[in-house]
Amino acid sequence: MPPRILIIGQGLAGTALAWCLWERGVPFVIVDRQEALTCSKVAAGLITPITGMRLTVSWRYALFYREALSFYRRCGRKLQQRFFFPRGYVRLLKNEAEIAKWNKRRADPDLQPFLHPQPPTLNAEVIHEPANGFQQRHAAWLDTTRYLQASREFFVSLGAWMQGDVQPADVRDDATGVEWQGQRFSHVIWAQGWTAEKHPLFSWVPFQSARGTILTVEADLQGEQRILNRGCWLLPRPDGTLRVGSTYEWKFDDPNTPASAPLQQLEANLHSLSKAPATVTDVQTAVRPIIKNQQALMGTHPAHPRVAFLNGLGSKGSLRSPWLARHLIEHLLEGAALDPELDLQRNGI
Ligand SMILES: Cc1cc2nc3c(=O)[nH]c(=O)nc-3n(C[C@H](O)[C@H](O)[C@H](O)COP(=O)(O)OP(=O)(O)OC[C@H]3O[C@@H](n4cnc5c(N)ncnc54)[C@H](O)[C@@H]3O)c2cc1C
Repeated sequence: MPPRILIIGQGLAGTALAWCLWERGVPFVIVDRQEALTCSKVAAGLITPITGMRLTVSWRYALFYREALSFYRRCGRKLQQRFFFPRGYVRLLKNEAEIAKWNKRRADPDLQPFLHPQPPTLNAEVIHEPANGFQQRHAAWLDTTRYLQASREFFVSLGAWMQGDVQPADVRDDATGVEWQGQRFSHVIWAQGWTAEKHPLFSWVPFQSARGTILTVEADLQGEQRILNRGCWLLPRPDGTLRVGSTYEWKFDDPNTPASAPLQQLEANLHSLSKAPATVTDVQTAVRPIIKNQQALMGTHPAHPRVAFLNGLGSKGSLRSPWLARHLIEHLLEGAALDPELDLQRNGI
């Protein structure tokens, strides 16, 4: 049958898939549970080149960033809204050991395209110990709330969005396509985030997902617009509020309720970064879909060629979802070879 695709899940993964199909003129239906707190709804939307304790460039950053920039701008133009904002990013170094590590790393050629030539100057009235850090270029903030909501409204206007909780047993597939609720599709793509670990066809994928919490905070940073990071990151938003995050909990029961110790640590980190009096107005928690030792995985199920999967975006969904979605769609519709490092069938077991 001609391509017509059922997408399960409207997080960052499913939304990027739907836009890819729309841009190609391929019909699709996207179904989402519309839960209040999902990973994509909670995410801060930070896009950061130099990350982590090791101060290295995020995997394939330049490739993903180029695609994300162009993708979110195209979506924004279509929806006449802006949700992608390049932002300065200041990484402050925590202690002598981190300063020593940075002094060894800073000349690394891989880092140079992302280093701002000027050291950061920060307002010492609002930031503790503002010396010893570096500024990054090509960082950005995706307003995930606005992007997801505006995209949903657009897909609704196309008659291509449905609220629903799709049960794997209700999606029947054969060699030529897929059937769900009496409708026929060429493929189904499960883009359901961490709950895919309960999907009977994908239970063999080694998920190792992590619960995370972000605070919404009112604090006056006296006009600071850059993203700041030391011990935690702090994102000033245009409405004057800040988001502060985030925690990683590898063992959890309730996906949307944080344990108290990491939450207290996050607040302590905030107070050791910012001097400004802060009021926490919201605490949001969700689970990042992480697949053990993988940057993400995609492709079709080894025994069900019409059943596809895109998952494991970890903490990089804003950056990576546009490129990953296009890659999967090109594989499904045009037979393009999957990148071996991202191929579910090569890496999932
Ligand atoms: C605290 C925290 C902070 C983060 N910060 C950042 C950040 O700064 N930058 C960044 O890039 N990323 C960040 N992330 C990670 C980012 O949120 C993820 O990479 C991304 O959201 C994963 O998207 P997804 O679409 O794969 O999954 P999800 O967002 O989980 O989306 C899956 C969707 O599928 C729906 N669904 C599931 N099963 C079904 C079903 N059976 N039927 C119908 N619908 C279904 C769910 O309701 C959900 O809407 C953060 C995550 C957390 C938790």
